[in-house]
Amino acid sequence: MRAENPAGPAPILSVRDLTKIYRHQNQDGITAADHISFDLYPGECLGIIGESGSGKSTVAGMITRLTDPTSGTIVLDGQDITLLRGRQLRDVYAKIQMVFQTPADSFDPRHTLGDGIGESLRNRGRSIRETRQEVERLLTLCGLSPYYASRYPHQVSGGQCQRAAIARALAVSPQILICDEATSALDVTIQKEMITLLDRLRKKLGLSIIFICHDIALVQEFCDRVLVMHRGKIVEEGIPDEIIKNPKDPYTKNLIDSVLL
Ligand code: ADP
Ligand code: MG
Repeated sequence: MRAENPAGPAPILSVRDLTKIYRHQNQDGITAADHISFDLYPGECLGIIGESGSGKSTVAGMITRLTDPTSGTIVLDGQDITLLRGRQLRDVYAKIQMVFQTPADSFDPRHTLGDGIGESLRNRGRSIRETRQEVERLLTLCGLSPYYASRYPHQVSGGQCQRAAIARALAVSPQILICDEATSALDVTIQKEMITLLDRLRKKLGLSIIFICHDIALVQEFCDRVLVMHRGKIVEEGIPDEIIKNPKDPYTKNLIDSVLL
């Protein structure tokens, strides 16, 4: 864990002993996340790496309260959100937003990207005109022409759709953006463009980002700090350059070797 700095900012998110056991009838449970603890600081980009099935998405799902934790606590911006339900979660969604691997999943195929991006604004009572202006601002912020508001998800490329998905996530002005393999389905050059965009947004908006990825090279380029997950546990934590140079855990070493070979 990063040492507490009394003079420094308080974490925007603190996760302690977060555990998820998936139980199926008449079977032993699967411990998908096992006593996960970490802090996320304002403006920080925290990477989470680990092979498929190591529990990354389960952790993301619990933080965004899409999945109920089995035990542990989640404190967001000073508020314990672990047990919030129903309408109370609305405030959580205004603070944490998620972008997924398949950008089209963020949109209804029958509606335009503009409708999708503006949905949360309309739900919060903004007028059609205000919403249209805000959608255009968000598209521009994410590097797309405002003209894309009238396109349908199938009429844009994967990278463009992911930019629109980020615009949609930003519509509620969140403090934290969780990118769960958000770049994994894209071509290498588009991946780089997305990282550049996320980095710009982080600086411009002061966003904190949790960047979940299985590519340690991308994490090295983009993240201030990284957690390595293996079988539901955090096996290592540190600055990406240092971990790559000097991995302490044998699993981390394998993970790095398999990517860099
Ligand atoms: P990752 O995102 O690192 O690939 P996941 O969090 O998706 O890992 O999965 C971690 C473990 O939990 C895996 O063994 C997976 O099969 C299991 N798992 C994930 N979601 C469910 C679920 N809804 N029900 C049962 N098991 C699940
Ligand atoms: Mg996953």
